[in-house]
Amino acid sequence: MKYIDLRSDTVSHPTDEMREAMARAEVGDDVYHDDPTVNQLEADAAALLGKEAAVFVTSGTQGNLCALLAHCQRGESIIIGDTSHIFRYEQGGMAQLGGILPHTLPVQADGTMRLCDLENAINPDDEHKPVTRLVALENTHNMAGGVPISAAYTAEVADFARRNNLILHIDGARIFNAAAAFDVDVKSLVAGADSVTFCLSKGLCAPAGSILVGSKDFIRRARRARKVLGGSLRQAGVLAAAGLIALHKMRHRLAEDHRNAQLLAEGMSEIPGVALKSQNTNFVFFALADDAGAPLDEFVHKLRRDYNIFMSPYGGESGQIRLRTHFWIDRAAIDKVTSAVSAILS
Ligand SMILES: *Cc1c(COP(=O)(O)O)cnc(C)c1O
Repeated sequence: MKYIDLRSDTVSHPTDEMREAMARAEVGDDVYHDDPTVNQLEADAAALLGKEAAVFVTSGTQGNLCALLAHCQRGESIIIGDTSHIFRYEQGGMAQLGGILPHTLPVQADGTMRLCDLENAINPDDEHKPVTRLVALENTHNMAGGVPISAAYTAEVADFARRNNLILHIDGARIFNAAAAFDVDVKSLVAGADSVTFCLSKGLCAPAGSILVGSKDFIRRARRARKVLGGSLRQAGVLAAAGLIALHKMRHRLAEDHRNAQLLAEGMSEIPGVALKSQNTNFVFFALADDAGAPLDEFVHKLRRDYNIFMSPYGGESGQIRLRTHFWIDRAAIDKVTSAVSAILS
């Protein structure tokens, strides 16, 4: 590649193998359940996560929204982290389209919500209050810096949900990154969850598509939600063909992205003028030291103009830059990035 794009793992392109499989994919009308490639992807995804059924959706946002619409009635409330993707970056779809009220709780640096906060967030049976229906986790937690959430914590929240008659949904956009980080079977990370969304794009490299899993009855309702959201596709097997490679092949190599993120973090931390902030899974955050002598936007501009390296400043005020490794970022690319940053800051 003639450029190195670290802005996100969402920029990853499909692999050659995916493009070939897409060209050859057997297809049918998926609204009639007639697409064999989509059917295969849904069956394999459900089995892999240890759930009864799955539905292919166009994006993670659509998967999360289908889940919330299928689980909750209008006027009901869900407990969710204040920095969660669902609350911050999905346009409040649950409220806009589902009449669902988010009750937000602070997310700790490790991506979790305190159990005592969860307990206190449940509304009593009181006609003044919306009925609390669901609790949502995010794994890996995006705004906490890509930190993976453990099976032990998830089990505690699942137990809390069961004791209180709540549904547990996991936004597992990068759940396979979490499985790779802990080196565990993904089933253990979603064991107590009623539903899980995960992305086939991002680190898994498919060009589009996400999966929502849960019980058969739940998935039937989620498919209805997908339809009203305009998300039912016809010959979607061309996308599912790439999804199958994402699921069966690409997930096994995510640890390599994590090792590369670690190498990148180590390399960056040795450069005078760089203040490394964090590295978890495939995420790296850094800032420029006050005496680095380069304003952030000028630094980013120079990297793009002179070196074809793309980075995006993160969170405006925070003054940080976020990097995400993925399939198209290899060790040679990491060496190029650290020498370019050294050259700019020297
Ligand atoms: C990417 C992402 C989503 C879904 O995003 P889409 O762009 O709609 O596929 C949901 N949650 C998290 C944590 C994400 O990182």
